[in-house]
Amino acid sequence: MNAGFKYTKGKRSGLLIKTGVMVGETYALPLGDRPLYFAMWNQISAHISQATAVEFVARHQRPVGGGSINRAYAVSNGDAVNAVSYFVKLNRADQLSMFEAEAKGLQQIADTQTIRVPRPLCWGVAESSAYLVMEWLDLGYGTHRSWEEMGRNLAAMHRVTSSHGFGWEHDNTIGSTPQINAWTADWTEFFGTHRLGYQLTLAKQQGGSFPEGDRLLSALPDLLAGHRPQPSLVHGDLWSGNAAVTKLEEPVILDPATYFGDREVDLAMTELFGRFPNDFYRAYQSSFPLAPGYERRKVLYNLYHILNHFNLFGGGYAAQANSMIASLLR
Ligand code: ADP
Repeated sequence: MNAGFKYTKGKRSGLLIKTGVMVGETYALPLGDRPLYFAMWNQISAHISQATAVEFVARHQRPVGGGSINRAYAVSNGDAVNAVSYFVKLNRADQLSMFEAEAKGLQQIADTQTIRVPRPLCWGVAESSAYLVMEWLDLGYGTHRSWEEMGRNLAAMHRVTSSHGFGWEHDNTIGSTPQINAWTADWTEFFGTHRLGYQLTLAKQQGGSFPEGDRLLSALPDLLAGHRPQPSLVHGDLWSGNAAVTKLEEPVILDPATYFGDREVDLAMTELFGRFPNDFYRAYQSSFPLAPGYERRKVLYNLYHILNHFNLFGGGYAAQANSMIASLLR
């Protein structure tokens, strides 16, 4: 019987992704995989125990939906009195470096003590699955106050800067697309080469047609003329699915694609797939006002994500990218 994994639609796209689902009474893994499945959780449990120096056994594993790239689980020791839970992401073993970079990004953001992120605990490969274990957060619903705090805290994170310029110590991924973070002194050069140029090249290799793409790249110095952002620590993938509020009303950001860049990239993306509540923007603006010209740069910065969506999911994103390019060249 292949009750197995069910394929569901990614939240942002038509991508088919693999997610664990409960089917009937039993957890739906192919029966033949059960020993591997339990061996995997035993190894992950041992790693958690080692990392925390407290014995942990993942007796319960509950699939968590909502992600677009990985399989995610809430795991707990099942102890009625001293319940302990963790959030675990799983992917193919060859995706371990993606989890490593995510863990380093989470750690770097946590170290700034400006905005809450789940603390990464350990990562590795168990039975041909790469895993990343992090702190479990009880997520709830945002209030006016928590979204204001999200705005202020993000502004505080954006004040964290780097003496190396734009980039980061590690390459990471945006979705599952590589994101190159080579240190670069000039923002226009960084964004042109490692963000827009990189995705455009990939999109053409995937068969996309972007007749004005190269012209846009040549126009970047004009489009960004006079804009001199400082390198800010950015989340890098701050759409609404990656911002949440805990049950204690603490704002939290998830699943970062961290680097040092123009802070406007984060603000732009908060407006791309459903805007954040207005309290967030009001609080951000009064903490760290945006420079004039943001509205136009927003389109430019979001083009990076739309091209990435074309590269990940194909479909109508090419037309959307072309109309953004046309509006920027107008
Ligand atoms: P993916 O890497 O597949 O995109 P996410 O990191 O976005 O996965 O996580 C998927 C969903 O799981 C989030 O939208 C959120 O609802 C929930 N989630 C993420 N991190 C945690 C956590 N540390 N604790 C509890 N729930 C979480």
